Formats: sequence, structure tokens, C-alpha cells
Amino acid sequence: MVKRAILTNLFMCNGCYTCALSCKVARNLAADEWWSKVITNGKTNTPYLDDPAGSWSNPSTLKMSWTPVHLPKCDLCIDRTRAGKDPYCVYNCPTRAKTYGDLDDPSSAISLVMKDLTDRGYKIYQLPDAGKGTHTAAYYADK
Ligand code: SF4
Ligand code: SF4
Repeated sequence: MVKRAILTNLFMCNGCYTCALSCKVARNLAADEWWSKVITNGKTNTPYLDDPAGSWSNPSTLKMSWTPVHLPKCDLCIDRTRAGKDPYCVYNCPTRAKTYGDLDDPSSAISLVMKDLTDRGYKIYQLPDAGKGTHTAAYYADK
């Protein structure tokens, strides 16, 4: 079996929105259509997003965090990945926070990165609404 997935390392993600925009441009999405978004966390109607991502340690200063999410329509750039290339959002991420690969292949990029991060104390998880509001193939790593 092949279990295609994308891992986002939230410790490396700076919330720049390049992933979402590169998806929108490369996949030629309509003006109001997004297959990927960066959600700003906080007092929103998405309480599960109040954790973890980045934050400033001094609470008297700016405090914000964010989560890049893959929406259900994301097809993990099937044509591109079949050709052996990374998805557009992975390829264009400036901090290399994203990794694509086959979770059932222990030698794939995503499996190797997940193992390395786990060995270094990161937690690997999915969002609580994976498969409903967000994509089943999206995984996250954070300290
Ligand atoms: S995953 Fe990469 S491209 Fe997307 S917001 Fe984070 S740093 Fe930017
Ligand atoms: S994997 Fe491809 S389709 Fe999915 S969000 Fe990234 S760029 Fe868009």
C-alpha cells in the first residue's frame, strides 16, 4: 500500500502563507477557492487551533500562532508527485517545514523526517477534524 501524506513541522513554519498561495497559483484555483490555508490561531471558532505552533514567551508582547491546513480538496498534487516531484506547497515552502512522501515506505522522505523528529522529542499528530474539515493526509510535528 502507498499512504501519501504531507508533514508540516510547526516549529519551522513561520506562517508566511507561501504554501497556500503557491497551491492557488499552480493549481489555477478560482479567486475564492483554497485547497490550503494558514489559519491564525487564537480566539476563533476553531478552538483546537489555540495550541501549539509558535508563540512569544513574554505574554506582554505580541503573541500569535498559526497552523497551515490542507483542505479536503487537496489532491496532494497527484500529477506532480506521480512524476517524482514534491507537491507545489512542499517545494515552495521557504523554511522547508513541509515534507511529502509515503508513510508506508520507511525509506521515504516523510518517514525519515518523522523518525528523526520523533527521536528528537517532537510529537507527531493530526488535527482533531482530519477527515472532516481538514485533509486526512496532513500530519504535524511540534515540540
Ligand atoms: S508551511 Fe512553509 S510555506 Fe506554509 S506557512 Fe509555513 S513556512 Fe510558510
Ligand atoms: S499538495 Fe498540492 S493540491 Fe495540496 S495544498 Fe499542496 S499544492 Fe495544493
